Amino acid sequence: MPRNPVRYWDEEIETLDRRSLERLQTERIQATLQRASRSDLYRGLFAGRRIRPDRIRSPADLRSLPFTTKDDLRRAYPRGMLAVDQRRVVRMHASSGTTGQSTVIYHTARDIRHWTELVARSLVMSGATEADVFQNMMSYGLFTGGLGLHYGAERMGMMVIPAGGGNTSRQIQLMRDFATTIIHITPSYALHVADVIADQGLTPDDFKLRRLVFGAEPYSEATRSKLERCFRVTAYNCYGLSEMNGPGVAFECRQSEGMHVWEDNFVVEIIDPATGEPLPPGRKGEVVFTTLNREATPLIRYRTRDLAQIIEEPDCPCGRRMRRLSRILGRTDDMLIIRGVNVFPSQIEHVLMKIPEVGSNFQILLDRVESLDRMTVRVEICGKMFRGGVSELRALKGAIQHSLREEILVSSDVELLEPGTLPPSTGKAKRVIDNRAI
Ligand code: ADP
Ligand code: ZN
Repeated sequence: MPRNPVRYWDEEIETLDRRSLERLQTERIQATLQRASRSDLYRGLFAGRRIRPDRIRSPADLRSLPFTTKDDLRRAYPRGMLAVDQRRVVRMHASSGTTGQSTVIYHTARDIRHWTELVARSLVMSGATEADVFQNMMSYGLFTGGLGLHYGAERMGMMVIPAGGGNTSRQIQLMRDFATTIIHITPSYALHVADVIADQGLTPDDFKLRRLVFGAEPYSEATRSKLERCFRVTAYNCYGLSEMNGPGVAFECRQSEGMHVWEDNFVVEIIDPATGEPLPPGRKGEVVFTTLNREATPLIRYRTRDLAQIIEEPDCPCGRRMRRLSRILGRTDDMLIIRGVNVFPSQIEHVLMKIPEVGSNFQILLDRVESLDRMTVRVEICGKMFRGGVSELRALKGAIQHSLREEILVSSDVELLEPGTLPPSTGKAKRVIDNRAI
């Protein structure tokens, strides 16, 4: 098959050589520091330090500055992070609040323009063109997955269907009636949509779908493969967080080997979450970002709590020079400590989604019995794949328990459920129910 030529949205910047990029980053860090010190947040964080923007001579010099944490942003709620006159603000967004009080980010018109450009650039990188029909199945509102992708998709000229999250039968109807070619969706919701499509007796041939764009939650390679098989299309990973605008911070190119971080807009660092020390390329740690182009809420060395690594090879065959981030391997704040062992829900997902008899939904239940942690993994089985009797169910349960133990090193109970027993996810999945009293 002839390969499609590489297309760029902004070729000059996307292929900029590293030296020029670092020069640009340095200038922008200096400007960002100037701006940031106008907010109460940074007046507080910089108090007692002499911050001299002109002393920043390279992006590495950022290391002399303090981190900004989610708690700092929570303390600054609702306006302490604002660095411009409120009259210049045209929009605000807030994080989903997955891990507590949500954080607020303000945008000027220029901020929104830049964010829109980054999303357009990301979508073109994945091969989207103005001939595509883009159905956005992320919820619209304070959450950034809706409006963020919407503006970028429109900007690059696609027809956008602002479907929002949920209402699955209607989503499927829209996909068929308007010949949707790209959907933007959380992987957990995509698993549910795939089930409903199958229940309706439809197959990929009933759709014109060409690509999936996945974002907003961690998921494993096994889930991606499973969904690519169900929909018979390629999936692209889209990463972002509301503190860094939202989606469009990093996105996969057609090589599907990591996500290019838009380093003209963000400096990315990987640190050891325990010590705060920078880690070399290739080592897994916490992702830290500094905004480079934002006016209303500049953020410096923001600790995302997301765990990932920088992929070492500098050049990607797609021609882009911006470094790549691995998939997000988990969040430091969704790490579970079970009988002293660190376990990420994504590890459990990885094990389950590789087993063909496992359906699309699962839940992790934690209890404490006689001061011992007990984990129960509740797993929906796949109706189509599994037609066995009691002994086969018992064997499946044993096989799941065994694979889980191999991966996470703690034993668990496994409960097999009929398809459709657990509440389906229509946005960010909530997989863990922790009933352990502290
Ligand atoms: P919250 O922290 O409340 O969930 P956001 O709505 O801003 O706030 O979501 C951002 C978070 O979602 C990221 O920090 C990350 O944990 C997760 N996320 C976003 N995109 C991806 C992705 N492609 N892969 C894994 N996790 C992602
Ligand atoms: Zn690439």
